[in-house]
Amino acid sequence: MNVHLIRSSDFSAQTYQSVLQIVRQYEGPIEFLASESDAFISNAIEVEIESKEAFEKAQDLPKMNMSIYDDSRAELSLHSNRPRFSFPFKTKRANWKHFFDACEYYRSARKLPPEDLVILLTDTANEANWFGGADKTMKNAFIHTADWHHYFEGLNERFPIAYEVIAWTIRMLIVKDQTEMPNYWHNEPRGCMSDFCQNKRQIVLKMRTADICMDCMKLLQSSKVDVRIFGQLIDALEGVRTYFLSTERSLFLNRPSTVFVSGYLHRIFFPAYGNLELNLNPKQRAIYCFFLRHPEGVRLVELIDHRSEIGALYHRFSNFGTIEEIEESLNLLLDPLENNLNETLSRIRSAIKRTLGPRISPNYQIIGSRGELYRINLDAELIQFESQL
Ligand SMILES: [Zn+2]
Repeated sequence: MNVHLIRSSDFSAQTYQSVLQIVRQYEGPIEFLASESDAFISNAIEVEIESKEAFEKAQDLPKMNMSIYDDSRAELSLHSNRPRFSFPFKTKRANWKHFFDACEYYRSARKLPPEDLVILLTDTANEANWFGGADKTMKNAFIHTADWHHYFEGLNERFPIAYEVIAWTIRMLIVKDQTEMPNYWHNEPRGCMSDFCQNKRQIVLKMRTADICMDCMKLLQSSKVDVRIFGQLIDALEGVRTYFLSTERSLFLNRPSTVFVSGYLHRIFFPAYGNLELNLNPKQRAIYCFFLRHPEGVRLVELIDHRSEIGALYHRFSNFGTIEEIEESLNLLLDPLENNLNETLSRIRSAIKRTLGPRISPNYQIIGSRGELYRINLDAELIQFESQL
């Protein structure tokens, strides 16, 4: 079975060759073939990305029959050293149809058998800001090759691009119809290749884990595809992951890394996981930051003795409610006869798990048992506050 990797002229020829080299290392029935000519994305337009938040958010799937843009041709450039981003910045973007047109054009010009897959590698950004996508037939796909250095600092972009090539090949084999794609994606990250990554930073977690979860393994098994093909593709995914881990610190997955608490509002980030942010509401954040500030641990019944510290954090983070309302909420939180504290702790637990996935999240949880000390089991030097109370 053939997978044709075609290059749009804006994607570095050198990186393209490196990607081919990686994906061709694994033996099996799939052949990854280089394109004989470059593809043009003729309808790319220049757009301005205003903020980091917009840059890092994958939007809903675009409608496939979107209007055609003006014919302004993508600028030709062969970056090898990609500069860091500062916002706002300008980029070229095209809609999905034009990527698939390029695939179809290649397919018909070379009279490819219909079962062959065609994957376009392009620096041109796409409508909805995805890392990649496939068309209705699930035979043509595109992968966005730019921007990886924003998520994987210091890591050569050939690895994440190779990962995407393998992952899209698997997806095109197991999902028969593009309308089934929304059911295929996991909306909550599992560290699985099928994680959707609406927050695009979650891609780092997904690639470092490079797992295929049990649900996806079942999907693989139930598809009628030659088992040797999956063997080859899974070997390749695993191989790319090994590159990731060897280019970074080894033992990465088991070793806890830094929690960074940013600025006056104490936003919480995990720098080693692509700077993913832990989103907590003001009350949850007050409790979590309190435990970060007390690595020695505190019994839940003794939290009331720390009311002024928890209160100071809570007041700082709340932008709604009067002082009285916040105080009342604090009374409820610290009342041992109420269940409010347990509920809050349980919401924090779910948020951490949702952000980091089941494999990594336990390192960062507030853990304890009734009557005993509760604490976050991290060495003090892994907890970094940018500003104190
Ligand atoms: Zn999965």
